[in-house]
Amino acid sequence: MTSSIPRELFDADVEGFRNSFRKFLEQEAIPYHAQWEKDGQVSRALWQKAGEMGFLCPELPEEYGGSAADFRYCAVVSEEIARAGLSGIGFGLHSDIVAPYVLHYGSAYLKEHYLPKMASGELVTAIAMTEPGAGSDLQGVRTTAVKQGDHYILNGSKTFITNGQMADLVIVVAKTDPAEGAKGISLFLVEAGWPGFSKGRNLEKVGMKAQDTSELFFQDVKVPVANLLGAENSGFIALMQELPQERLMVGINAVASAEAALEWTVAYCKERKSFGKPLMSFQNTRFKLAELTSEVTAARVFVDRCLELHLKRKLDIPTAAMIKQLTTDLQCRVTDECVQLHGGYGYIWEYPIARAWADARVQKIYAGTNEIMKEIIARSL
Ligand SMILES: Cc1cc2nc3c(=O)[nH]c(=O)nc-3n(C[C@H](O)[C@H](O)[C@H](O)COP(=O)(O)OP(=O)(O)OC[C@H]3O[C@@H](n4cnc5c(N)ncnc54)[C@H](O)[C@@H]3O)c2cc1C
Repeated sequence: MTSSIPRELFDADVEGFRNSFRKFLEQEAIPYHAQWEKDGQVSRALWQKAGEMGFLCPELPEEYGGSAADFRYCAVVSEEIARAGLSGIGFGLHSDIVAPYVLHYGSAYLKEHYLPKMASGELVTAIAMTEPGAGSDLQGVRTTAVKQGDHYILNGSKTFITNGQMADLVIVVAKTDPAEGAKGISLFLVEAGWPGFSKGRNLEKVGMKAQDTSELFFQDVKVPVANLLGAENSGFIALMQELPQERLMVGINAVASAEAALEWTVAYCKERKSFGKPLMSFQNTRFKLAELTSEVTAARVFVDRCLELHLKRKLDIPTAAMIKQLTTDLQCRVTDECVQLHGGYGYIWEYPIARAWADARVQKIYAGTNEIMKEIIARSL
C-alpha cells in the first residue's frame, strides 16, 4: 500500500510486539499451514508456544497470566495472522472473544481457575451460540440448562463452532427460562471432558481449511452451578455487550487481508506479462488496483479510528456493525477482483490469493450476517 496516512495508534512498543509475532508466525506457522489445511486444524504445539511467548490473551491482567496490554496488541495479532493468510489460527476468538467474557462476567473462582490456563495455551476455548435451527435469531436457541441442586443439566446441540475440535473449554449459550425468550438465556463454561459432552464432525468448509469448525453435542451434561458465567438469565445482555469487540476484530482482520491481497496482486501484475507487456501496464489493471487501493485505504482509516474509540470504550453497537458490514463486503470484492487479475493462477489453491478469496467469503456470514448488521445500523437511523 502506498498511502501516506500514518497509523499513529501504533507506537514503537506495539510495532516491536508486531515484529516478534510476525517472526513467530514465520517460524512456527507459515511452514506448517499447508499440512494443517490437510489435517483440518492447527497443532496444539502452536498454541502452547504462543502461550509461552505471551501472544495469547495479551489484554488479561498479569494476575491471570496476561500482559495487561491494551487492545492494540490484540489487533496486531489479528492483523499479522490475516496478512499471512493463516486462517486456521483461532487465537482471536480465544483471546479477544472468550477471555473477555470470563474476565467481565466470571466469578473470582472462574477467573482464577481458567484464565491463567487460557493465557498459557494449556486450554483452547470456543464459544457456542449457533445451533442447527438458530443462527441469526439467537432467541431461538433450544439448548436448555435446568437447575438441579448444585448443578445444571445441559441438553442440546451446537454447530459451526470455531476451535470446536481443539476446544477444552466452551462457553455454551443455553436457555434457563425458555418462556422468557432473550431474557431466559444464560452462559455456561463447559469442559470438554465432562460426561455427555461430545464433539461431532470437523465440518468440511469451502475455505479456512486449517480451522476446526465443529458440531458439539450435550446430553445430560452436569454443569456445576459455579460454572454459570454471570447471573442466570443475563446471557443475552452479555452477548450484546461483547459483540462490538468481535465485530471490530472481524473488521481488523478484513482490512489486513484486503491489504495483503492487493500487495500480492500488484507484485504479480508487475511480474506477469501478456501481449509482451506486464499486466500492470494495462489500463484496466491499473484502474482496478487504484480503485481498490483507495477503498481499502479509506476502510483502514475508518477501522483505525474505531479502534481508537474502542480503546476509550466508546465504540457503539451500530458503528461496530458498520465496520463489520463495510469491511467484509470490501474484502470479498477485493479478493474477487484480485483473483480475476491473477487469471487462471488465481484459481489455483497454492496461490495465496485463491485461499484468501475462499477464506474471505465467510466473513460476511459469521459474527452476525451482514444482513443482520444492516438491520442493526438501520435501527439506529
Ligand atoms: C466458518 C464458520 C465459523 C463460525 N463460528 C462460530 C462460532 O465460533 N460460534 C458460533 O456460535 N457460531 C459460529 N458460526 C455460525 C455463524 O455465526 C452463523 O452461521 C451465522 O450467525 C448465521 O446463522 P445461520 O447460519 O443459522 O443462518 P440464518 O440465520 O439461517 O440466515 C440465513 C440467511 O438469512 C438471512 N437472515 C436471517 N434473518 C434475517 C433477518 N432478520 N433479516 C434479513 N435477513 C435475515 C441471513 O442474513 C442469511 O443470509 C460460524 C459459522 C461459520 C460458517
